[in-house]
Amino acid sequence: MAANLIDGRAIAEEIHRETAARVAALAARGATPGLAFVRVGDDPASKVYVGMKERACQRLGIRSTTLILAESTSEAEVLALIGRLNADPAVHGILVQAPLPRAICSARVFASVAPGKDVDGFHPVNVGKLMLGDPGGFVPCTPAGIHQLLIRAGVPLAGAEVVILGRGNIVGKPMAAILIQKAPDADATVTVCHSRTRDLAAHCRRADILIAAMGVREFVRADMVKPGAAVIDVGVNRVPDPAAKGGSRLVGDVDFEGVRAVAGHLTPNPGGVGPMTIAMLMRNTVQAAEMQS
Ligand code: NAP
Repeated sequence: MAANLIDGRAIAEEIHRETAARVAALAARGATPGLAFVRVGDDPASKVYVGMKERACQRLGIRSTTLILAESTSEAEVLALIGRLNADPAVHGILVQAPLPRAICSARVFASVAPGKDVDGFHPVNVGKLMLGDPGGFVPCTPAGIHQLLIRAGVPLAGAEVVILGRGNIVGKPMAAILIQKAPDADATVTVCHSRTRDLAAHCRRADILIAAMGVREFVRADMVKPGAAVIDVGVNRVPDPAAKGGSRLVGDVDFEGVRAVAGHLTPNPGGVGPMTIAMLMRNTVQAAEMQS
């Protein structure tokens, strides 16, 4: 039987509706949430991502500003700009779009954003709050979105065997931190795999929930999936395709057609995790505005 597809676009719309109601409640108190994007250099994917996030802000009544800096901008200049945004009361959230140019230390830049405005959840204070289970911090948008996909698709989490492929700071590690919490909608048993994991396929085969966040095209094949498992495909990989517009297309970390025949739930890619990342960014921004207003 084919897997139920988890419709990330529909669930993201549901979250946008909830966020829009919170924006309206803030407006009734005379407050408008404000989000500042900082983009350094000319990375084409960054332009696309920031553009999508700006459009989401516009739709929801969040005031957004995008500060575009040249590739040659020094780290000191970026830090000075963030300092000004930290002090600006009309800016409730700050998002520094990755990747930054090589000459700039991303960790220092992320740590310079005021924790209360860090809607990406990358500041060490927010990383710490997530580990501690403190609900007063910001949770990184992609794993927070995956969590919502699992909850709203009705996938049981308490006691579930979760295997996460990838230990990156943006997806894998915070995803594990969310699901191991002693809390409702968590309480899972989590294994995090990476490039040094022995017999990775054996780990995958015992997962009730398999989350692929490696950036390796179609790595997860049907024979690595336990029948009935929920499979979340986070990867974004651009592959050449002469038939596609622009000569390339995006594929995930999961062999969609093969895994669909075995899994119980599966996210399409695109149309699964991607829209949720933006929905959670909007939600975090409104949370920041509520906390500051
Ligand atoms: P990352 O920081 O580069 O982490 C990749 C992880 O995958 C690393 O832990 C790496 O292991 C592991 N890995 C790579 N190849 C492997 C292999 N052959 N076998 C086992 N493990 C392997 O990446 P990220 O930022 O977490 O992103 C992961 C993917 O998610 C990317 O494709 C990215 O584009 C996508 N993504 C999507 C969204 C969205 O909104 N849809 C958002 C964020 C990221 P080591 O640690 O041992 O090197």
